[in-house]
Amino acid sequence: MSVEAKQCLNCRRTEDAVPLITLQIMGGNLWMCPQCLPILIHSPQKLTGKLPGAESMDAAEHGH
Ligand SMILES: [Zn+2]
Repeated sequence: MSVEAKQCLNCRRTEDAVPLITLQIMGGNLWMCPQCLPILIHSPQKLTGKLPGAESMDAAEHGH
């Protein structure tokens, strides 16, 4: 990973295009835009490969 620009880890839009929310994770920072944040909240497994540890995160939704 050599990309230093702040960009949404999911849709790759930059802070020039959308407001970005900083995620503190594993001693570093990642960024995510508000449009993609629900994915992190409800379906973090969809971010596997983009967000470290996403595959082991629990979704906020319970049941079913
Ligand atoms: Zn995004």
